[in-house]
Amino acid sequence: MVDRKCIACGIIKDRNNLIKITAQAENVVINGGSKIFGRSAYLCYNKTCIENAFKKNRLKKMLKVSVPNELKGKLLDELRNSQDK
Ligand SMILES: [Zn+2]
Repeated sequence: MVDRKCIACGIIKDRNNLIKITAQAENVVINGGSKIFGRSAYLCYNKTCIENAFKKNRLKKMLKVSVPNELKGKLLDELRNSQDK
């Protein structure tokens, strides 16, 4: 079990229970898997944490890249997909 911390609420969870966001050069990859390397941030599968990560620019600060606005939509899609399972 690998513990990671949600950048929005600070709760520590197993990384399988968090959305992984990795910055790779100019790209930002969501749940890229173990072959994706780069600076990563983690978020809970919940809308509040996703929104807070953007509201307070935490994602940008953690990843040290500019975060495209559409990333928020992609994260919310990821959340929706995980709930459909
Ligand atoms: Zn959280």
